[in-house]
Amino acid sequence: MIHFVGAGPGAVDLITVRGQKLLEEADVVIYAGSLVNPGLLDCVRQDCMIYNSAKMTLEEVLEVMEQAEREGKTTVRLHTGDPCLYGAIREQMDWLEEQKIPYDSCPGVSSFCGAAAALNLEYTLPEVSQSVVITRMEGRTPVPEKETVASFAAHGATMVLFLSTGLLEQLERQLMEGGYPADTPAAIVYKATWPEEETYICTVSTLAETAKEHRITKTALIIVGDVVTHHSYERSKLYDPSFATEFREAK
Ligand code: SAH
Repeated sequence: MIHFVGAGPGAVDLITVRGQKLLEEADVVIYAGSLVNPGLLDCVRQDCMIYNSAKMTLEEVLEVMEQAEREGKTTVRLHTGDPCLYGAIREQMDWLEEQKIPYDSCPGVSSFCGAAAALNLEYTLPEVSQSVVITRMEGRTPVPEKETVASFAAHGATMVLFLSTGLLEQLERQLMEGGYPADTPAAIVYKATWPEEETYICTVSTLAETAKEHRITKTALIIVGDVVTHHSYERSKLYDPSFATEFREAK
């Protein structure tokens, strides 16, 4: 059995209770060493085999899974944040299905949630933004033509950019071309929830400059939108005294 497990954004106590239990019981752990906090591996059994997938190809990862399965072992495939975002899990799952190897998924706290926590942000403020666009700049992995940052920027909604810290000049340009005014609030969150976390508030037009000043080149998220400085929002309807809900009468 293979369990895909979300490791959370970094802090070792931000894995789920279920994820930790699966780690504690695993015979084999394959973890994404580039981003998963190695401290999470402190809880594994002494005889657990540990592999760092940062140094492996997909084929090598699959080989370890197949071998473990042949020996009747349980494998945890530990991915950073939540595996459903930029986790490259589908290609593993498709192969497991072909081999008739059973697998399941255990969610994790994505780094975009960790970054919101680092800044005490609500991404969805009434009358400011009610949507979050999660995307990335095109790098070596292409982005479909219809999903350019500029096209999403036209909505003016909250945007969270993964995997884009090395491309901030182009990002700034695309954000402004798409319609965010140059002074739209933005934030850079480096290693959210890790002990070395850093957060910077800037604007869309100063993203590259801010990252350069603080030497941030990777493991960061970029957050864009008026929610970053949370000015002039409406209070929630849900907690308004005049608003009746299934649980509370209107006053
Ligand atoms: N599945 C992961 C994302 C993997 S893609 C998740 O749900 O978070 C890897 C990218 O995620 C990094 O390049 C960076 O942009 C972002 N990232 C991962 N962990 C991060 C953290 N703790 N702080 C800031 N960004 C992080």
